[in-house]
Amino acid sequence: MGRRFCVRCGVLESSDRPIIDGLCPKCFTKERSIVNLPSKIEITVCSSCYALYFMGKWVNAGLRLDEILEYYINNALMKRENIYPGFRDVRAQVIRVGGGKVEVIVKGTYRGVTLSQRMITDVRVTYRLCPRCLKVKTGGYEALIQIRFEGSVDKRLGREVLELISRYKRIVSSITDIEEVKEGLNIKLMSQGVARQIANIIRKKFGAKVVHSWTNAGYVSGKRHSKLTISLRLPTLRGGDIVLLGEKDIALVIDVSESYVKLLRLNDGKEVKLSYDSLWSKGFRKLTSKEYVIVKGKILGYEGGYAVIQEIASGNIYRVRPHKLKDPGSDAEVLIYKGEVYLLR
Ligand SMILES: [Zn+2]
Ligand SMILES: [Zn+2]
Repeated sequence: MGRRFCVRCGVLESSDRPIIDGLCPKCFTKERSIVNLPSKIEITVCSSCYALYFMGKWVNAGLRLDEILEYYINNALMKRENIYPGFRDVRAQVIRVGGGKVEVIVKGTYRGVTLSQRMITDVRVTYRLCPRCLKVKTGGYEALIQIRFEGSVDKRLGREVLELISRYKRIVSSITDIEEVKEGLNIKLMSQGVARQIANIIRKKFGAKVVHSWTNAGYVSGKRHSKLTISLRLPTLRGGDIVLLGEKDIALVIDVSESYVKLLRLNDGKEVKLSYDSLWSKGFRKLTSKEYVIVKGKILGYEGGYAVIQEIASGNIYRVRPHKLKDPGSDAEVLIYKGEVYLLR
């Protein structure tokens, strides 16, 4: 059998100079590639601990970019389908990284002869924090939801809120902590997006008022990092509650639904139906039972546009603007708030 020779330079095959598809090693490395590297290598690295995001996990591949790239090239890219047929033990060694490029020396053996080839390809490194570093840098959360209550803390309502959000799998997996505090509940989450979702759900279901705020949590990977706080104030209104509407209107809560509150305005006896948005924008405060007095009495009659009501217990007489006419002798209730007297029912 005649010895083969290189079709490019004509050199003859020898034991330390195999002919690979018609080319000597020197010509082969000029014209072909031992391994096909992608035109751009894209990797994600933790900006704090330099862990490499690899196959869905964060792995420790070294502390320098060249080490990390070398690990990535040798573990992710040295696949059979990328390697020129007949080559074995193909490894890359990174010799330089910079300017968006990585330069490697690829070595592989062909019929016992080692060939090496210098290759350059584009590289793009995306930095982000791995979950472990994120947790350390952010104190364990990215967003805080504060569940607060208009008036006093309503534990039953708080449980209803937790029950509601526990139905959403994505939300539950993002929660890192639920804390009961004096003012309500604090829910810590890893995701600001999920926090916004929760806020929306609670706003719709409970008519909560939503206030977003950001606190500077220092610098993370050179960027200013902010934690999101969403304060959700729940109206906690139930039928029979007395509220101060705006500056001075006193109202009795008649009915509460998911989308509106029906109120009887005691000043003029008008029934008003308000969405939660308009309720919050008007401003309201649920009065505590210590702030007002309800007096039970009987209607004696009407005088000059006023209903005259006598308190059963004390015999005191109250004159109030009636918002409905009841027969003399029928039961009535009067509400006294800051010295003003209103007909309640
Ligand atoms: Zn040749
Ligand atoms: Zn990290």
